[in-house]
Amino acid sequence: MLVVAGTGLVANIATAALLFRSRNENLNLRGAFLHVLGDTLGSLGAIIAGVLILVRQWYLADPIVSAIVGALVLYSSWKLVSESVDVLLEGTPRHLKVSSILTDLGSLQGVASVHDLHVWSITSEMTAMSCHVVLRQNADAGLVLMESSRLMRDKYGIEHTTIQVESENWRTGDTVIWPRPGNE
Ligand SMILES: [Zn+2]
Repeated sequence: MLVVAGTGLVANIATAALLFRSRNENLNLRGAFLHVLGDTLGSLGAIIAGVLILVRQWYLADPIVSAIVGALVLYSSWKLVSESVDVLLEGTPRHLKVSSILTDLGSLQGVASVHDLHVWSITSEMTAMSCHVVLRQNADAGLVLMESSRLMRDKYGIEHTTIQVESENWRTGDTVIWPRPGNE
């Protein structure tokens, strides 16, 4: 038991050392690092249990240490799992506040209002955003589009944007813009 656990410990420490520096690069690397860390704890636990059994004949040490290691692995994976779920469900990344994006876009020059704003995760490092920006009268659509994308990139780090520019009278009146009557 001690020999196997000792060999495992050396191998796991070596692998953990390799992954240590890149562990924050993305979710995959963090998952791999946490996995090796869990295995290292497992080896360490087995060694402790082995020594206790060898010296004190305390056989209960094995299941107790296993349960403690299991609880530690569960605890350390929780954040990883919840962030992965965010990506899978295309949730809004934790560090971004939709309300502040809305306020910032709305206070750009030439912008009357903003609606249908969505922010979602594509991968753990890539965020996408889409919204409709309603222009003030005589505002330059091209300029507003450029300023909006620049704001998203510079302040929020979002490069992948889809921004629909609308004029103020689009929504007023009974005119249906799309679909046109008789046109699917
Ligand atoms: Zn719209």
